[in-house]
Amino acid sequence: MSGAGFDRVALIGLGLIGSSLSHVMRREGLAGHIAGTAHSQGTRDKAVALGLVDSIHPSAAEAVEDADLVVLCVPVGANAEVAAQIGPHLKAGAIVTDVGSVKGAPLRDIAPHIPPGVHLVPGHPVAGTENSGPESGFAELFENRWCILTPAGGTDEAAVARLAAFWRACGSNVEIMDAVHHDHVLAITSHIPHLIAYNIVGTAAHLGEVTQSEVIKYSAGGFRDFTRIAASDPVMWRDVFLHNKEAVLEMLGRFTEDLTALQRAIRWGDGKMLFDLFSHTREIRRGIIEAGQEVDAPDFGRRVTKEPAGGGEA
Ligand code: NAP
Repeated sequence: MSGAGFDRVALIGLGLIGSSLSHVMRREGLAGHIAGTAHSQGTRDKAVALGLVDSIHPSAAEAVEDADLVVLCVPVGANAEVAAQIGPHLKAGAIVTDVGSVKGAPLRDIAPHIPPGVHLVPGHPVAGTENSGPESGFAELFENRWCILTPAGGTDEAAVARLAAFWRACGSNVEIMDAVHHDHVLAITSHIPHLIAYNIVGTAAHLGEVTQSEVIKYSAGGFRDFTRIAASDPVMWRDVFLHNKEAVLEMLGRFTEDLTALQRAIRWGDGKMLFDLFSHTREIRRGIIEAGQEVDAPDFGRRVTKEPAGGGEA
């Protein structure tokens, strides 16, 4: 087993993130034993068939017995329920983390159930695709992507360093951040873009009832990219918006103001304003490519291979 690994890892939830973690832990030798559980028998059976786990358990309480690292890979809204189930069964000295796309809420929901002597270090791998379920994972998902850890003040530094080393061994770059700050940053970089995609596809679908053939026929013109993001898991995204309410509403207010300014520019023929903004946003795209967070290749939602830059991540 690699030095950054753990003797026994428990994966609670075996969807995109849980199964990807299993693949990368196997590839890098990061777990002596992978114990797992999921909500439904169907997913548990699939996880066994796919070789994602060394042992499968009917409940989270049983899966975490004797685990050194426990990773909650469930929708953010399920954290509290799962934490209450596992609390009494956690091993002294274990590290408990999660992968949720919102970080203030997990601290609030999970922390009360973590007994003294167990280290809670919430985390968020900023990596994903629009797919979900145990078959959607792949070992390269976290490669060269950020993993943000948001430990509360006073958390055992050795536990934070150990989890950071684990994520680095999974291929990620690790950043430590305050949970509230995380939720503001992710609101604008991930949550609002998803909301816009859901909204624009919803609006087009309403129009589609009138002009259905046009919506589908001309969908290459930008719309197709939005449909890819808007195909993201409904449970996961419902929970993201319900649990990052304040930051999303604040950012949405600013977004709406800027949209109104654009509306005015179009109404009054202010071409300079439009040109300046579009030039600036093009520079931002170049910066993202230069930072290695995206490839400079056309996609339009047609990519068929599984690539780390697949987008749609939370
Ligand atoms: P997913 O593919 O839908 O998988 C979720 C898993 O959680 C499923 O195996 C589900 O079991 C299980 N589950 C749900 N409720 C449970 C419960 N009460 N007890 C035990 N297992 C339960 O979701 P995902 O994309 O892996 O997302 C998981 C987490 O990662 C979310 O918090 C999300 O915010 C975060 N995240 C997602 C992305 C992304 O792009 N997808 C990126 C970064 C972080 P069943 O299959 O039996 O229902």
